[in-house]
Amino acid sequence: MVDLSLRNIRKAYADLEVLHGIDLDIKSGEFIVFVGPSGCGKSTLLRSIAGLESITSGDLVIDGERMNAVAPSKRGISMVFQSYALYPHMTVYENMAFGLRIAGMPKAEIDTRVRRAAGILQLDKYLQRQPKALSGGQRQRVAIGRAIVRNPRVFLFDEPLSNLDAALRVATRIEIAKLKQSMPDVTMIYVTHDQVEAMTLADRIVVFKDGYVEQMGTPTELYRKPANLFVAQFIGSPA
Ligand code: ADP
Ligand code: MG
Repeated sequence: MVDLSLRNIRKAYADLEVLHGIDLDIKSGEFIVFVGPSGCGKSTLLRSIAGLESITSGDLVIDGERMNAVAPSKRGISMVFQSYALYPHMTVYENMAFGLRIAGMPKAEIDTRVRRAAGILQLDKYLQRQPKALSGGQRQRVAIGRAIVRNPRVFLFDEPLSNLDAALRVATRIEIAKLKQSMPDVTMIYVTHDQVEAMTLADRIVVFKDGYVEQMGTPTELYRKPANLFVAQFIGSPA
């Protein structure tokens, strides 16, 4: 059970500050969606949570433990990116097993985890294929599988579906909704441009603008009571 707290997170690249003091409290098992215009700092915040960027000031607390100085691999966080690089010469199974093997996990445990992830993502039939013999949507599911096998307590998605065509996006969105149901204790943060994804997947949505949080609330709250015109336009409310 993990609570994720961001306390006054600031991040600057050289003298350009791109996150201006972000405060968020996320409950264990929540599915949080980040939306906001391109360049407003969504990816920077995700990478900061994952530890791939160091924050300039503020605190990141997971389950009561301050994470600022904890190595990315020790945070219990998995991240899925828009552009997923699978190893072309390895099978689906090997792609999912690779990170665990490097970490020295026993074979039997790796096998259990890979098969469980394949089951969740309906990849069971494809485990012995190479990535070139998969569709784009299946490949993205392998990338998600690689993140699942690490048993993360927090799962971060940075626009995972934006490289897929519209039909595949819908199908994969449904997969993500199932993933959320099959991992109810895992806290998920999901960045998207797509209003439908945000409204259908989110327990709560965070609307960002220029490195600030404009509003946070359930899809219904934001739709019915947008704090301002910016939020209304982003959510698609009839303001
Ligand atoms: P978003 O994901 O919301 O589109 P980003 O977090 O990628 O936004 O970017 C936020 C701001 O930080 C942008 O102005 C971007 O140009 C800047 N930025 C992102 N990464 C770097 C970097 N590595 N070095 C310098 N500036 C960066
Ligand atoms: Mg981004």
